[in-house]
Amino acid sequence: MSQPITLSVTSLQSALNCPLCFWIAERLGSPPSIFARITSQMDSVIKGYMRQFIGGSDLPEWFPVRGTFLDASQTLRATDSTTGITVAGKLDALAKTPDGKYHIVDYKTGRPPEEVPYYYQMQLDGYAYLLERNGYQPVAGGVLLYFTPQHGDLRDGLFPFKITAVHASVDSSRVLSTLARAKEIIDATTPPTRSEDCEMCMWREQVGQRLSK
Ligand code: SF4
Repeated sequence: MSQPITLSVTSLQSALNCPLCFWIAERLGSPPSIFARITSQMDSVIKGYMRQFIGGSDLPEWFPVRGTFLDASQTLRATDSTTGITVAGKLDALAKTPDGKYHIVDYKTGRPPEEVPYYYQMQLDGYAYLLERNGYQPVAGGVLLYFTPQHGDLRDGLFPFKITAVHASVDSSRVLSTLARAKEIIDATTPPTRSEDCEMCMWREQVGQRLSK
């Protein structure tokens, strides 16, 4: 495939998850999104609220980094010279601590996990890759900031949320090997094998077998 390839930071992990799904999405088009709209609405509310802090350092107590809150509204891009793949992505939030280091913050809705899930780790690594190649160095780490609905008094029409920070280290070099794998999959002229443990495909195959009887 010789056309320019652009991958979003959020799609990097899918190249490792299932070669077949990734190949189909890149060659034939992505399936409809199944992400809950409430998640993107939450993101938009938080980002809208945080906009007032851009350029300042008097941040809300729950914000996980003490430093200057930066404008992260632009889409960052970087092209890997080996594969020719352009990575693109927009951070939820970016802060710079007094020691000159950059910190990625990504808003999440739901229960915080004990450890950073591998798919979010790749997302954070992808943001670090973009930041480093756009002059934001050094990147010290990332934080997944979880907004979790809580039981509480709803009389005033306000929903209580608990906010939890899950800190992560970042390693932008992991992105390069992922891009190499992504290019290999995209260049394949026949569909690659599917993921071994995808419940959706196993279910689809079982249904297909039953229908053909
Ligand atoms: S195994 Fe799962 S992820 Fe892969 S093609 Fe099938 S449905 Fe898609």
